[in-house]
Amino acid sequence: MFTIRELLQPDSTREAYQLLQTEAGARIIAGGLFLRLSDRLTIDKAIDISGLGLDRIEEMEDHFQIGAMVTLRDMETDKALNSYFSGVLGKSVSGILGVQFRNMASIGAPVAARYGFSDPITALLALDTSVELEDAGTVSLETYLSDRSIKKDLLKYILIKRDNSKAAWQVLRNSETDFALINAAVSRSGNEVKITVGARPKCAELATGAMEALASSEWNDSDLEKAADLAAEELSFGTNRLASAEYRKDMCRVLVLRALKEVRDAD
Ligand SMILES: Cc1cc2nc3c(=O)[nH]c(=O)nc-3n(C[C@H](O)[C@H](O)[C@H](O)COP(=O)(O)OP(=O)(O)OC[C@H]3O[C@@H](n4cnc5c(N)ncnc54)[C@H](O)[C@@H]3O)c2cc1C
Repeated sequence: MFTIRELLQPDSTREAYQLLQTEAGARIIAGGLFLRLSDRLTIDKAIDISGLGLDRIEEMEDHFQIGAMVTLRDMETDKALNSYFSGVLGKSVSGILGVQFRNMASIGAPVAARYGFSDPITALLALDTSVELEDAGTVSLETYLSDRSIKKDLLKYILIKRDNSKAAWQVLRNSETDFALINAAVSRSGNEVKITVGARPKCAELATGAMEALASSEWNDSDLEKAADLAAEELSFGTNRLASAEYRKDMCRVLVLRALKEVRDAD
């Protein structure tokens, strides 16, 4: 549960960003669902970004533009978005708790906060995705996740290049509505492949060695098995209450192999 002392309702994303920089104790509030998990949190100044027009999924000339306040449920049900990439974005969020929850949780928050357990970040990283920040401008999602010098900014949009990639989603949970103990996504367009693994429990990362190995392969069963082994070897895994590092590594191999077979057999 949290207490808000003052609610600020800026008229523009610039004003929201400036409030974030200049007001002591200011914090952006989106769905408020993760914040409310905090034990007795007091937010001096909550910056409400719900009135800034960031709640739309738009099809631009060559990319999708997803506003930070778009809900997980919008992502799950948007027909245009899910007609691309084998519907991987909808699949990545459809297992997160219930519909009521997904109707409130925003997509901008987990990306902005770089949550390690996030399901949609793993799927987004497997696509050609960038984030548009109010101050830092547009940077690739891969850079945003790894460059911790980008701080305290307002995430406005998630931008996904539209292409004909086939994609696959895999996730393992101890029980249906629990956090993922590991998740994986694969996208493939021609010979180009992206493999991402998240909830390790660190944030999603690309398995670049496995991706390179596949670029010049025939994609037969043995090639895919080698790539899945490589992904499990090159990424690091940790232990927490959900699973041990060893179990995560084993399951990484299994999930990556399943996802690779799914994109191959989709052709
Ligand atoms: C019980 C529970 C279970 C969950 N299970 C899963 C799961 O299985 N898989 C999964 O992927 N996710 C899961 N989540 C996370 C959930 O999907 C959302 O990511 C989370 O609730 C944050 O969204 P929100 O809109 O509520 O953000 P808030 O709680 O409003 O904000 C979270 C943080 O992000 C910051 N923030 C919000 N928007 C922006 C922005 N535009 N720019 C910059 N900073 C911003 C806030 O200041 C705050 O620090 C779970 C969350 C809860 C509470």
